[in-house]
Amino acid sequence: MLAHAAVSLLFVSTKQAARHGRLQLHASNSPCKRNSVTHRDFSRPKPPTQRSRPGTKRETRTVISTRSAHPRTLSLLNQLITTLGGGVAVVNPLSDLTKGEVCDLALEAGLTGETLCSTVSCSHPPHTRNAQLPFHCGYCYACLVRRAGLWHALRTDSTSYQHDPWQLPSRDSKTEDLLALLLWLSTPLTSKDLISDVQLPSEISPADLLPVQHRAREELSAMLSNALPEGGPYRSGWQPIP
Ligand SMILES: [Zn+2]
Repeated sequence: MLAHAAVSLLFVSTKQAARHGRLQLHASNSPCKRNSVTHRDFSRPKPPTQRSRPGTKRETRTVISTRSAHPRTLSLLNQLITTLGGGVAVVNPLSDLTKGEVCDLALEAGLTGETLCSTVSCSHPPHTRNAQLPFHCGYCYACLVRRAGLWHALRTDSTSYQHDPWQLPSRDSKTEDLLALLLWLSTPLTSKDLISDVQLPSEISPADLLPVQHRAREELSAMLSNALPEGGPYRSGWQPIP
């Protein structure tokens, strides 16, 4: 999916450059009015989350994201295209869907669960030349969202993850995103969360994005409620708020 987004944006960029004679390439002469960015992970704002470690002060931070398909990114890109005289618009047709809902769409379109589990979502996949080893770290934010999406759509996940963060002690750095997510899911979601680190374009209201965010939180909470070991430190006292 990341490759698709990158290719989409690259296609727009190169097409515009070619249009203005600044780049010689084999661009198609056929008119193209819309270019879609369909990378789900970065299709909507990432709410800022916090991490809380025993004995340490809480601090605000932003969840890992390139924001390559954030509404503001796409808005600025389209402004650039318009300024350059381009005739295309970049849109994100999946912006109103959660990860799980995108998986549902894929299944409805005929893809198998096995195919979904063979995709790659990890922000920093383990670097290895051994193809037999896991290609997903299992603990980054992208992996956690992936787990939630697949759990929503399949109620199983055959992805080979390098780590299950809930099996690690909370002092392990690999649990940072899990701790941040648990805290965020147990804190009421507000419109302010959606614009605290990156502003939305003027044509989009934060309130418009709340429904999909609430559904995404429900998916994440469902996956974690299933995965967190009973009686373990991560489940103890944790009460998600949809
Ligand atoms: Zn990962």
